[in-house]
Parts: sequence; C-alpha cells; structure tokens
Amino acid sequence: MKTSDPVRKVKGIGEKSVPLYEKLGIRTVGDLLCHFPRGYERYEAPVLISAAGEGTVCTVEGMLTSSAKPVPGNARKMVVARIRDVSGEMELRWFNAPYILKQLPVGRKLLFRGKTSRYGRTVSMVQPEVFTEDTYRARMKSLRPVYHLTAGLSGNAVSKAIKAALAETEVEDYLPGKYRRAHGFMKLADAYSEIHCPKDESVTKEAVRRLSYDEFFRFLLSMRHLKAGILREANSFVIEKHTVADAVRAGLPYKLTGAQQTVINEIANDLQGPFPMQRLLQGDVGSGKTIVALLALSMCAEQGFQGCLMAPTEVLARQHMETFTKLLAPYGIGVTLLVGSQSAAERKQVLSGLADGTYRIAIGTHALFQEKVEFQNLGLVIVDEQHRFGVKQREQLMKKGAMPHLLIMSATPIPRTLAMMLYGDMDISMLSEQPAERLPVKSCVVDGSYRPTAYNFIKKQVAQGGQAYVICPMIEESENFDAENVTDYAAKLRQEFGGDIVVEALHGQMPASDKNRILSDFAEGRIQVLVSTTVIEVGINVPNATVMMVENAERFGLSALHQLRGRVGRGAKQSYCILVQGNDDPESKERLSVLLTAKDGFAIAEEDLRLRGPGDFFGIRQSGDMDFRVADIIRDAETLKFAREDIEALSDGETEQMYNLLIADKADIVIY
Ligand code: ADP
Ligand code: MG
Repeated sequence: MKTSDPVRKVKGIGEKSVPLYEKLGIRTVGDLLCHFPRGYERYEAPVLISAAGEGTVCTVEGMLTSSAKPVPGNARKMVVARIRDVSGEMELRWFNAPYILKQLPVGRKLLFRGKTSRYGRTVSMVQPEVFTEDTYRARMKSLRPVYHLTAGLSGNAVSKAIKAALAETEVEDYLPGKYRRAHGFMKLADAYSEIHCPKDESVTKEAVRRLSYDEFFRFLLSMRHLKAGILREANSFVIEKHTVADAVRAGLPYKLTGAQQTVINEIANDLQGPFPMQRLLQGDVGSGKTIVALLALSMCAEQGFQGCLMAPTEVLARQHMETFTKLLAPYGIGVTLLVGSQSAAERKQVLSGLADGTYRIAIGTHALFQEKVEFQNLGLVIVDEQHRFGVKQREQLMKKGAMPHLLIMSATPIPRTLAMMLYGDMDISMLSEQPAERLPVKSCVVDGSYRPTAYNFIKKQVAQGGQAYVICPMIEESENFDAENVTDYAAKLRQEFGGDIVVEALHGQMPASDKNRILSDFAEGRIQVLVSTTVIEVGINVPNATVMMVENAERFGLSALHQLRGRVGRGAKQSYCILVQGNDDPESKERLSVLLTAKDGFAIAEEDLRLRGPGDFFGIRQSGDMDFRVADIIRDAETLKFAREDIEALSDGETEQMYNLLIADKADIVIY
C-alpha cells in the first residue's frame, strides 16, 4: 500500500466507516498514519471504593453483589450493577450498552475504570470499562495511545486500522539524511510505528522528537517560502482612508487602551506600506482584539477593497457578525456572513454579493476559503483566535488574485522567545493590556467538597442577574463519554437548582444548529447556566456571565484555563472563577495556583514553560495546546530551536528546493 491510497484500502475500514474517518480529516492512508495520538494513557493502580472520590476517573476492584440489570423503561437503556470491596459498595451504570449484561454475573471479581459521579446519596461509576485482573495488569505496564475520535468510531477501531495500515504501507522518508544524521533521528517508518504502538518509553520519546522536528521544520519552511514570495510582491491594496474608522472609534462607549491604539497604528502602517502585511497579533484574552479587527476592516472597506474575518467556529462568526453590523451599518458598509449551515439560497445570495462587491466585509468560518467563493477584490484577511492559518490556505489566497494583507490574531499568548522562533518571518504585535475599568476575576482552587458551596454561590449570582459556565473536561475513554458527561452533569444541576434556573448542556457532538441556538439563548439570557465541554467556543463574549466553574481543572493546561477564565470578567460586574481540582496531587495544586497570582496570559505561558517538567511528557493534551499534531511548542522547545536553526541556514535557492521536496504537491502531508 502507498500513503496516497484511500483509507478504504486498509483492512478493517469498511464502506460505512469511510465517512467517519473523513470527519476526522482522514482520507488517505498517509492521513491515517498521521492521525497521531493526542497523548497516552497509563492505567493507574486500583483504589478502594471508599477512596474513589467523586467526579474523578479511577479504577476500583470489586465483586458483583448483584448481576447487571436493565432499568425498565429507561429511555437511554440504562443498565445497573453493584459491586463491593473491603471498604464499601458502589453502583455501576451503563447507557446503551446491552452487551454488558452478559459480562457481569453475580459473584465475579472484576476491575472497573471510569468516572465517578453522585446520584442523590450514592456514588456511581458511569460507563466504566471492564477488565479482568490479568488484562488490567497488562494495561498498567503500557502506554496506551489516546486519539481524537468522532461518534461511531472507537479508539480501538482507530488503533486497529492504524496497525493494519502500518503493517502494509511503505513509508518513504522525505527528510534528507543530512538532517536525520545531524540530530540522530530515527527513520520515519519507525517513528510512525513507535508513536502509534509504543513499546518502550525512551524510544517513544525519540519518535515524538523526530515527528515534532518534522512538523516544525515544514511549518517554518513554508513560512519562509511564503515570506520570500511576499517580498517579491508589491502591495496591491494600498489602504490609507481612516475616516470611518475614526468615526467608529469616536462613537464607542469606551476609550481604546494604549496597547490597542499602538496595534492599530502598526496595522495602519502596514496597510499602506510597500509589501502585503504579514502580522501576528498576540493578544491576551479579553484585551479587545475584535475591535482592532473591525477598525482594520473598516479602513479596507472605505478604500474600496474587500476584507474578511475568519473565526474558528460558526458561533463565534455569528457573534462577530452582530458586533460588526451594529457598528458599521451607519456607514453603509455591507457586511455579510458565510458559514456552513446556511441554506443553499442564502449561500447563493452571499456568494453573488461577494463576487460583485455588494459586500465589503465577509465574516465566516473556513467556508470563506472554499473554492467556489470569489471575491471582487479581497485586500485583507484576518484570522481570529487561531495561531496558525493554513499555509496551504494562504497559498490558495495568493492564487485567488493579488496577495491580500494578512493579520492573524492568536488564541493563546505564548512566550515571546517561542513566538520569535515560530513566527520570526512575520511581524508581531502584542496586546497585553486589559481595558482599565475591568475588575480582575476573583479565582480560587478548591476540591470536590466545595461543590455545594459553589452551587449555592452560582444560585446567588443568578438571583442577582448573572450567568454561569460550568466546564467538564472531555473524557477520552469513550467516544460518547463527553456528551454523556455534560448531559448528566446538567441533569444533576437541574435537580440541584430546581425549576427557576434554566440549565443547558453543550458539547461537540451536537449539530451546529443546536449549538447556535443554545449559545444565542445563553448570550441573550434565556439560559442561566451553561454546562459545556471546552468546545464552548473560544472567543465567545457574554459580558453578563460572572461565574466560570471548571471541573477537573487539573486536566487542563494553564493557558487553556486562562482562556476559559477569560469568558467571564467582560462586563462591569465582579466575576469569579472556581477551579475544582479532581485529584489531591500537590503538584497539580501548585500548578493551578499559578492562575491565582499571574498577571496575564503571557506570564501564565512563561510559568507553564517553567512548570511543565518531563513528568507529564506523555500526558493528554487538551484543546488549546493543540496547534501542532505531535509537537508541543513548550515541551518540544529544544527541537523547535534546532528546526529554526536549520531553516535559518538555508539559502534562498535551498529554501525553494526544500519546499519543492517537502511540501509542494505533497497531498498526503498535512500542514496547517
Ligand atoms: P478578545 O481579545 O478576548 O477577543 P473581545 O474583543 O471579545 O476580546 O473584547 C472583550 C470585551 O471588551 C468586549 O465586550 C468589548 O466590547 C470590550 N472592549 C474592547 N476594548 C475595550 C476597551 N478599550 N475598553 C473597554 N471595553 C473594551
Ligand atoms: Mg476574541
């Protein structure tokens, strides 16, 4: 098999699962091999039932005191069983898993691993995995890869498919031997095999090092290539008109911060400069990036060019659309929205308006860059809440006409030294100042016993007109688990709060239309408490929300937590962030406590860099840290440095040569 073959050729991937793989962006065998684990799981030693705690993932060993039974009439086909060990009893629950009935006869001793949860007075484990003593002991010794999944595709199925592909695919190593030797890297085929089927931790580390280098190298190479191309192009969209921008500024209910003014000046200079703009705006959460984007786009529109703003999610795009329409309508600037869920008729109307120039500003998702979209004269592209904007996408843009100006607004600040290494080929602006009248968010790190107090607190905040987010981390053991997790949690909160408070659940597997409806209901105050996984879109702005409660906070990176916290404290009211630590590890506590004192996102990123020891090398990455597939800019900073040095050493001619070798026309290599 070749890496360019379709995944359908892999043994075990049937007609039915092809669309599921496609959902994960996997079309070819090469894509499948590059579907790297987002981390590894190590099974920990079992704990006593009495020590299992609540809301944590753990393993218990117990004897079935009654055999598993279906609960009659339960809509989700619930099955319940009970187990006992020397310390106590526990209830086990499964949903939609009738096959479990046969595995669990009374009197059998087994191990169960899953998340504990309280229903009324009993602590239960929901949807646990079941092991015999032998299978569990084997698991405890090995690293198990954890993959991004989609409903209908289990981790086991993906693992099996990858193994089958590895066994039959010839993997060609694209990296010239010179670099392999200089850094002592293993071969690509070995790296693939070791990262998916880890046999030895030190070898897995080497595989990660090799693949991280490749990612960095290709990323930096394409940035360099792009930069060389841009330096050959003159600025075709000279933008000098600022009257609308000045009027919008004057009409704002607030004064721009000094940092915002500086950045806007930098952008205005770029827009009238000799080359197309290539700027990265690193802005702390809540520092007011949206208005910066809006002002730049208004300059572009006034000059007679078109501009667009790309958001990572539809919800955020819709929210931007509202802000833009409100602020720009008085000046007769046509703003339109382009997202995946629009009807064909709506879409047609938007596309024709973009092609004939009726609309000067388009706000949307990736849908903006599909082939069918034609702009009359696209002069400025702004990418919101993302570090990296596909190099391939940028090239597509270049092909659509003259090279437009590009502004990338980052989701998470990263330490300056790392930013320089990654984005040295762009200009970088910083936005670290918070608007002056903001009250800093009051934060605390607590354990599970604090929950009743937290719920009471939320009740009070809601009574005073506030709103709250409750975040549950994604649970990786089962593909549907995060959905179950938030729906169960929301049900529990409804019970807790009674009928007066509207609680809704939001998770990644919902159809876009449901997500949109729930988020707009939340934004407009029809929902008071939103229980969500981190799909709660970055960037969302609901100034009336005053509480952010995060369950199992230890499972998140500090920067991700800072992002989440940034969802509150956006209005005039005092806001609060409650971080519930789900384990009692003192190191986790120390790490979380950084959030109580650090000044801003940049300081947090620096601390993250300092605190992230090699200890959690194989840990599971949460979204927010996931800019690269394997590489972690903090963990792999050393490798990044090598890649940067190797790129710097290339001459212009070599850059083009390497680009052609490693990137151009390589359909099976994914570059963001
Ligand atoms: P982010 O940088 O996280 O994208 P937003 O652009 O969403 O932040 O801005 C957050 C909130 O702050 C918005 O409600 C916006 O209207 C407000 N805001 C932006 N700039 C200022 C400012 N200079 N003074 C006061 N409020 C501001
Ligand atoms: Mg934003």
